[in-house]
Amino acid sequence: MTIKLNLEEVFLSGIAGKRPIIVSGPCSAESEHQVVETAKQLEKLNVHIYRAGIWKPRTRPDTFEGMGSVALPWLQRVKKETRLLVATEVANSWHVREALKYGVDVLWIGARTTVNPFAVQELADALRGLDIPVFVKNPINPDIELWIGAMERINKAGIKKIVAVHRGFSSYGNSHFRNNPQWEIPIELKRRIPEIPIVTDPSHICGNKEFLFEISQRAMDLNFDGLFIESHICPEEALSDKDQQITPEELGNLLNKIVFRSMTITDNELKNTLAKLRTQIDQLDDNLFDIFEQRMNISETIGKYKKENNITIFQPGRWKEIIEKRIKDGEKKGLSTEFVSRVFKAIHQESINRQNRVMN
Ligand code: PEP
Ligand code: MN
Repeated sequence: MTIKLNLEEVFLSGIAGKRPIIVSGPCSAESEHQVVETAKQLEKLNVHIYRAGIWKPRTRPDTFEGMGSVALPWLQRVKKETRLLVATEVANSWHVREALKYGVDVLWIGARTTVNPFAVQELADALRGLDIPVFVKNPINPDIELWIGAMERINKAGIKKIVAVHRGFSSYGNSHFRNNPQWEIPIELKRRIPEIPIVTDPSHICGNKEFLFEISQRAMDLNFDGLFIESHICPEEALSDKDQQITPEELGNLLNKIVFRSMTITDNELKNTLAKLRTQIDQLDDNLFDIFEQRMNISETIGKYKKENNITIFQPGRWKEIIEKRIKDGEKKGLSTEFVSRVFKAIHQESINRQNRVMN
C-alpha cells in the first residue's frame, strides 16, 4: 500500500537551491568559536544547511548533554554571518519554542524520538500551523511503520516540508557499522511514499570516518536526495561522536570524490543497451518464478508423504545440509554468504509454510 503525504513539491530545491542537499556541521554546538568557525569553513563548500545539536540525547548519563539554549545565539550568528540555513534537533515542545525564538530554519527529530509516538505527537502539536522544514530520522529499530507514522503525525499537523533521514539501525553485538544501514528499509520507504525526499546520514551509520565515503556514494547511487554528515573544526576534541566527525577540509575532499550520477537516461544508444539487458533480466526472473513454483510443488508433495507417515515438517539435519552446501557453492559463484543465506532462509520458510498447509 502506498501512503499519501501532503508534501510541498520540490521544496528541496526551495530550501537548498540544489539537489543533492548537503547538511553538515558538528554533532554538538560546544562553543561560540567552534560553531562559528566550523560554519565559516563549511560555507566555502557545497553545504546548504548547517547542523548542530543544542540538546543531545545521550545513551548514558554523566556525559555531555549539549549546551542547551545558551548555544542558540551562536546559531543565530551563523545565520547572520554566512549564507547557511541552520538546523537543530528537537525532542519536546519546549525545544521547538526555544529553537523558533532564535530563528532556527530547519528542525530535525532524532532517532531516539522517532521511536516514541507520544514524543512525536507532542512535537507535531508544537509545530501545528508552522511552515518549517522538518527532517525525521529513522527510529533506532528497523521499524518502517514507526518511521512513516512519525512523518504522518508531523504532516497531519500541517508541515509540508518533510525529509526522511536514513541514519541506520542499531543492533546488538559486533558489526562493521555503529548502525546498520539496512538499505532495503529506505528503499521500501521510497516505494511506499514516492514523493518523500531521503537523505542519508553516513556519520551515524558508520560511527567512524572509515566508511563515510562508501556510504555516501552508495546513497547517491541509490538516487537519494542528499547527505547529512557531521563535521567539526577539531574532531579529536569533540564532546560527542568524536570518532565519526571530520574536518570541513576532509568533508570537502569527500564531496569532491563522490560521483554524482544522473537518474535520467538521455542517450538513445544507452537506452537501447539497457533495454536489452533489462529484457534479459526479466526473462531470468520469469525462469526463477517457474523454478520457485516447481520447487514449492515438490515441497507440498513431500508434505503429503510426511503427513501420511507422521513425520515432522522441520528436519534440522536436512536444513543444515542445504544451507551449508549452498553457502559453499555461492562462494564459487561470487554470491555473498549474506545473500545466499537470506534467499535460502526465505525459500525454506515458504517450504515449511506450504507443508504446514498440506498437513493441517
Ligand atoms: C545526531 O544527529 O547527532 C544524533 C543524535 O543523531 P541520531 O538521532 O541519528 O542518533
Ligand atoms: Mn552525533
